[in-house]
Formats: sequence, C-alpha cells, structure tokens
Amino acid sequence: MKMMRSAGDWFLKWIGARSSGSLLWRLLAESIPEHRNRYLAAVAAMVLVAATTALSAWVMGAIVDSMTDAENRSRVFIVAAAVAGIFFLKGVASFAQVVLMARAGNRIVAQKQIQLYQRLLDHGVAFFNKTESSDVLLRVTQSAQMARQVIDTVVTGFIRDLLTLLGLVAVMFYQQPLLSLVCLVVGPAALYGVRKILGQVRAVMAQEMAGLAEIIRVVQETATGARVVKAFALEPLMASRIETAVRLVAKRANKMVRLEAATTPLMDTITGLAIAAIVMLSTVSLFGRSAGTAGQLMSFVTAFLMAYEPAKRLSRMRVSIEAGMIGVRMMYDLLDQPRTMVEAPDATDLPAGPGQLALEDLHFCYSDGKPVIDGITLDCAAGTTTALVGPSGGGKSTLLNLMLRLYDPDRGRILIDGHDIRQATFASLRRTVSYVGQDTFLFSATVKENLRMVRPDATDEEVVEAARIAHADEFIGALAQGYDTPIGENGTFLSGGQRQRLALARAALRRAPILLLDEATSALDSHSETLVRDALDRVTAGVTTIVVAHRLSTVLRANRICYLEQGKVVETGSLAELLAMNGKFRALYDQQFAHG
Ligand code: ADP
Repeated sequence: MKMMRSAGDWFLKWIGARSSGSLLWRLLAESIPEHRNRYLAAVAAMVLVAATTALSAWVMGAIVDSMTDAENRSRVFIVAAAVAGIFFLKGVASFAQVVLMARAGNRIVAQKQIQLYQRLLDHGVAFFNKTESSDVLLRVTQSAQMARQVIDTVVTGFIRDLLTLLGLVAVMFYQQPLLSLVCLVVGPAALYGVRKILGQVRAVMAQEMAGLAEIIRVVQETATGARVVKAFALEPLMASRIETAVRLVAKRANKMVRLEAATTPLMDTITGLAIAAIVMLSTVSLFGRSAGTAGQLMSFVTAFLMAYEPAKRLSRMRVSIEAGMIGVRMMYDLLDQPRTMVEAPDATDLPAGPGQLALEDLHFCYSDGKPVIDGITLDCAAGTTTALVGPSGGGKSTLLNLMLRLYDPDRGRILIDGHDIRQATFASLRRTVSYVGQDTFLFSATVKENLRMVRPDATDEEVVEAARIAHADEFIGALAQGYDTPIGENGTFLSGGQRQRLALARAALRRAPILLLDEATSALDSHSETLVRDALDRVTAGVTTIVVAHRLSTVLRANRICYLEQGKVVETGSLAELLAMNGKFRALYDQQFAHG
C-alpha cells in the first residue's frame, strides 16, 4: 500500500498537479477501486487501442513496399488482410474503451451526486442560511461531472495516450532510428509551445465557472422572486444582470476556443516543416547509411503524425486536470463541511407520550453572537395552547426553531415528556413535533402527494379526512382533477387561505402530539378567515400547541399567553390576568388586537 502511495505521489508530481495532488489522489482512491473491474476492462481495451494504433502506423510501410515490390504480388493480399484486421480491432477496442469508461464514469457521477445531495439533506438550517442556493445547485450538478472528467483524463492519459505514444515512437525508431532522434528534439520543443498556450486555459476556466454561477443565480432569483420582479418592474435590472453574466461567459468561452485553436496553426506549420525535412533527408544517406525503403519512410511519417494527438493530450494533461480540479475542490468543499446538526450518537426514540413540553433556562444566539433567546423557562401542559406575542424581533420564531431542533440552544434544555430533545432521534422528534409555518411550502406534485408527504403510509381516506378537518376538502374537490391536480412549483394558483388550510391539513394528517404554529400575518377575507379559524380549532384540539399569534381570535382561545421581548418572557398568564396587569401586553392588545 505504501509503495502504491509513493508511486501515486510520483505520478501526481509527474503530471504536475502538485497543488491539487492530495485531493486528486483522494478522488482516485475513492472512485477507482470500487469500479475496479470496469476500469481493468477499459485498460485492457486501451492497451489494445495503443497496440493497434502502433501497428497501423507500422503496416503503412508494408503497404507501400508490397505495392512497389513488383516481384512479390502475393504479399499484397496478406498486407491487405492485415490492414483490415488491424483497423477492425482498433475500432472494436476504441468502442469498448469509450463505453466502459463512460459506464464507470456515469456511475461515479451518480454516486457523487447522491452523496452530495445526502450531505445537503444532513445539514441543518444554519447551513442553508449562509449558503447561496445557486452555489449549492452548481456544486451538486456540475462538480461531480468535472470530477469524472478528471478521472477520465488521468486514466486515458496515463494508459491509452502514454502507451500509444510509446508504441508509435517504437515504430519510428524501428523504421528510421536517426530521423527519430531528430524528432525527439523537435517534438518536445513544439509541445512545450502548445503547453504554454494551453496553460492559460485554466485561469479562464475558473472565471467561466464563476460566470455560470451568476447566470444560475439570476435565473433562479427571477423564477422564485417573479412577483417582486414584476411588482417593482425590475425586469430591466434583471435583464442587465443576466446580460453582463452571459456576455462574460461568452467572452471567456471565446477566449478558451481561441487559446485552444491557436495550437492548430502552430502544430500544422511544424508538422509541414518536419515532413518536408524528412523528405529531404530521405534523399541523402546519413553517415554512410541509406535512408531506407519508401515503405519505411512512409511508416515513419505516419507514426510521427499519429503521435501528435496523444503527445498533445499528454502535454496538456496537467492543464485538463487542474481545470477539472476546480470542480473536484468544489465537490469536496461541500462533502467535507462539518454537519451543522447531528443526532446524538446514543440517541433514542422519544417514547409516545401526551406531549408535555418544558423549556428550561434557554439561551441562544445566531452566528452573529447577539443574544436572541435570553433565559426562557416555560412549561406547557399537554393539550394546552400557548400563544407567543410581542414586538417583532423579540425571538418568537427563534423559539419555535429551537423547539423544532433546527438549532441547538447554547444553554438550557428542551424537554418533551421529560426527555431532552437533544438525546432524541430526529425521526422520533419529527413524529412528535409538527410545524405549520407562515408560508406553506408546496412541492411540484399533486395535491394528494403534497399532503401525504408528511405521512407516506396514510391511506387515501385518511388524506381526505385530514383535508376535511382542515376545511380544505371543499376547494380541493372543486379543482379540475381534485386531489390529483398537480400543484406547480409552490402552488401559485392557490389563494393564501387555501394554502393555509393545506398546511393545516398536513398537520392534521401528521397527528403529532405537539404542534408549533407560526400564524400567517397576511389578512384573509372574512369567509376564509372563518374557515381557517375553524380549521385551526379542529387541528389543535387536544394537541399541545405553541403559536406565534397575530390574530385576536388566537389570543382569545389560548390557555396561556407569553409576551416576549428581547429574548425574555416579560409577562405571562391568562388573557384576563395579563389585561389586569395593565403592562406591555395590555398596550399591545389595545393597539393591535382590540379593534378585531
Ligand atoms: P420574532 O419572531 O419575534 O419577530 P425572530 O425570532 O424572528 O423574532 O428574531 C429574533 C432576532 O433574531 C431578530 O433580531 C432577528 O434579526 C434575529 N434573527 C432571526 N433569524 C436570524 C438568523 N437566521 N440569523 C441571524 N439572526 C437572526
């Protein structure tokens, strides 16, 4: 193993990918052993490609000689058969190599993409808060592809191209040793020029990726923020943003093509000069030796010309790898990020219980270090409703986030039926606590699928029953295809009230003993309001409910009200008690709720 490792290090050094060496090694070590058999078969095909390529150069000599040698006509047939055989074999081997490499490569891409996505799912909300979604998109979709390209480059470069080149050089030396020596001097010099030109491609490639990310970002923002874009007539702004990004990408793509194409006239000129020189040299005898037969010369020139492609690829292997390593780095960046929210190693399932919820001296701050929850202790008896009220920014939503364990408190504990939620498995916590947020996120699926998502084993009857409880059944029935109506991305054709009722239907289907509710602030028409109100009553009946309350009706129905300000519960009690206190709640009540 150690020997392999040091051979690997030497190899990485040789191809010049020093800065990315360990990462490249890791990529190869993670990917190739698993697909060993496919790669071994591909390597066998590559050896055959290399051998038949060298043979095809060699046979050119035989062709010419057999045609010019008037005495031995029968050889022509043998040579013709050999040519057909060699080229057939070469074709089959090339086919096998491409297919086998693609199979292994596509498998690796699929695996890496799943791995990347799984990693994404493992992350807590904190990760998504600090990461741009377009960045995530680019990483998951592009980086695995680039990683595969790197593997392809290394394998085909090291096996097929290197062996082909060696084979062709062998043919050259066999046919024309002296001329070959001349080529060995001219060839590398020309390749050095090619490599210099292509060296610039890498820098352009990195910029290209940045430009691509910007395009994805703008398109995505336009799609998700379409209402805002329209409402504020931001079309010209968005158009100019995308124009800049698209232009930049186009400019860089042009530059890359220009750089790559620049090698062609260079190489063509050099090739022409080399062939001219060879033809001239062939007429003189060097050091008293004749230049050889026409066939030998032909074979030599063919091998020389054929050597250009593999030599070029080998000389730019480093550039190709370094360009691809941008994606590999992006991929491992994401894969290696520490998980922001993990289950305790000894986590156990929360036992089924009545759903009593206790907060003990909770303290919490977001990454900016400003205390948001500052010592909250709260006891919510099973089956009761607690309303959280208070000024915006007081920490109400954050408190719900902690109870959902989207974040962990810095200090203090949250207990459900006496069990610390940090010690609970995520699955059992999600079964015990359900959440209805301000905006109902709907996936692009049918109405039924959107509901059933929260409990995949629910029967159709249970889904309909939940919708009935939440007063969603009526409007779903009126949709063109009822429960099977597809909801577009985020259900744009549904009204605010309908979406809220769908969210409540989800909660009803979930039947968790604890419900956290961030009441929507958006005003509903009075009919909708009555339906939502009634749905709420039904869904929360007998369920321990913590609700961030924006409606008077919710406050009136709560068993207890907590007034939160700057992360502290400053007043708590029943509505009557709080009103009698004549404090902050009273002031808020008079200002916000009394008119209702
Ligand atoms: P409320 O729900 O009572 O309006 P929040 O819990 O939303 O209050 O916010 C409490 C404080 O935490 C606010 O000062 C807000 O700016 C801050 N805050 C909320 N979410 C984040 C976040 N993801 N990162 C940093 N600060 C946040």
